[in-house]
Amino acid sequence: MYCMDLTGKVAIVTGGAQGIGKAIVDALLECEANVAIIDRDVQTENSNERILYLQTDVSKSNQVEEMVHKVVQHFGRVDILVNNAGISSMDYAVDIKEEDWDRVMAVNAKGVYLCSQAVARVLKEQGQGGKIINISSQAGKNGYRLMGSYVASKHAVLGFTKTMAIELAKDQINVNAVCPGIVETDMKRNERVIGGELRGLGAEAIKAEDFSQVPLGRTALPTDIANVVVFLASKYSDYMTGQGINVTGGMTMN
Ligand code: NAD
Repeated sequence: MYCMDLTGKVAIVTGGAQGIGKAIVDALLECEANVAIIDRDVQTENSNERILYLQTDVSKSNQVEEMVHKVVQHFGRVDILVNNAGISSMDYAVDIKEEDWDRVMAVNAKGVYLCSQAVARVLKEQGQGGKIINISSQAGKNGYRLMGSYVASKHAVLGFTKTMAIELAKDQINVNAVCPGIVETDMKRNERVIGGELRGLGAEAIKAEDFSQVPLGRTALPTDIANVVVFLASKYSDYMTGQGINVTGGMTMN
């Protein structure tokens, strides 16, 4: 049981249907928050008083506006936004296709801008502060082979995090980012298959390479990331804003 008490708070989690997003949803629910689970791929019929499922593509402004409106209608307010929805695409930088670049930027960068803007307007109107938490990546701080469009999109997320943090500080809205290292999800498993093919190594060799990079000796579970998100959603992080927090098992010390 978490000691972070979020009773009565309302959180929106994008990409909440699986992977890191699902772990974040579960952690927030355990802290007694009410949660809107936003995903392009989600069953919506199981909503109840504490959980609202909404099918939304975060890269579409009309869908994002409608989603935030429905959350406020259902719960009466919003306090926390977790911008977690994301996709990746792999290719050598000189070979990236225009449509792949646009797709990655639309979800990872534009989606964060659209959801943050729509929720920030509600938070400002409520006048009681709030928390915006963006899931960036180590790819928001460093370059990575085969990940050009993804790296660019995650740098954009960190840049937007810092600017929003400055502009929303007077409204007591904290804006921070989490920068995970290697997390065991479908996204990572797919990346190992495609990266393995492109490098002529195979997925297992890439997995071994991943593990060898982490001083703590293991890659992350989605819950490792959710634990830090819960902290950033709680009052215990009230004096933190504009930060990109590494959650990497020590990977970036090397
Ligand atoms: P995942 O593929 O397992 O889950 C992503 C979720 O986002 C899915 O439920 C998917 O349906 C949803 N989604 C995708 N596009 C969407 C859209 N347009 N609108 C709404 N929902 C959409 O991936 P994950 O590994 O859990 O990644 C979650 C976040 O963490 C992403 O932003 C990712 O970039 C970031 N991240 C992951 C890792 C890792 O190693 N897995 C590392 C660093 C950062």
